[in-house]
Amino acid sequence: MKLDYSKTAFLAIDIQNDFCPAYKGKDGREFPKGAMAIKQGDEIIDNINNISAALKQKGVKILATQDWHPSGHVSFASSHPGKTPGDVIYIPVSEEAIEAFYKSFPDIHDPIPAAMQQVLWPDHCVQYTNGSAFHDHFNTSVIDFVFRKGYYKNIDSYSGFFENDRCTLTDLYGYLKENGITTLLMAGLATDYCVLYSTVDSLRLGFKTFVVRDACKGINNPAGSIKNAMAIMEGRGALFVSAADLT
Ligand SMILES: [Zn+2]
Repeated sequence: MKLDYSKTAFLAIDIQNDFCPAYKGKDGREFPKGAMAIKQGDEIIDNINNISAALKQKGVKILATQDWHPSGHVSFASSHPGKTPGDVIYIPVSEEAIEAFYKSFPDIHDPIPAAMQQVLWPDHCVQYTNGSAFHDHFNTSVIDFVFRKGYYKNIDSYSGFFENDRCTLTDLYGYLKENGITTLLMAGLATDYCVLYSTVDSLRLGFKTFVVRDACKGINNPAGSIKNAMAIMEGRGALFVSAADLT
């Protein structure tokens, strides 16, 4: 596969204990099932490690996101009396944030909704807990930079680029610009949420974007959401590759 390696970054999304099934760690320690365990979510870790190792040698930047919530986070059903995981709430988006976004990105014209839809989840990825830690088998030694997201109490972030208001930037965009990155390779958890949103935003911001099909795993809730996510990503211009193309 032809890539300009010095302008490419590999992004491993949310390879964290709370998104993975129970497993035995490297030293034999038992890790319990994560709060939002994705069925076979850990099966992609070997591919991610192999890709990272191979690309690192070629000079590709290896990046990771980490879902990183304070306790009482707005995305937790437990923060909203009477709500249960799977319920949806709507949170107004600040007009100033929308205005600032269009000023920073005059070439982007897609409308930003005045209220963001927020699915409520079980408590997960609480800062400094075992659940928010990277999976023990995920080789973090090759990572150049970790971008934490979802750390503001009142706003969630599926995308590595923006908070869920679709207009408040995380640090990822600035990092990519500063490092002259024009191409992104996406992998991780979950295909139908954080991988989807990160990929859509990556394309929206003008990056050439590949999704590594066999290095992503989805939740598929509601049923069909993985298939739907793949179709959306393809429709927006994402290209699909497999781990073997990169190792
Ligand atoms: Zn989260």
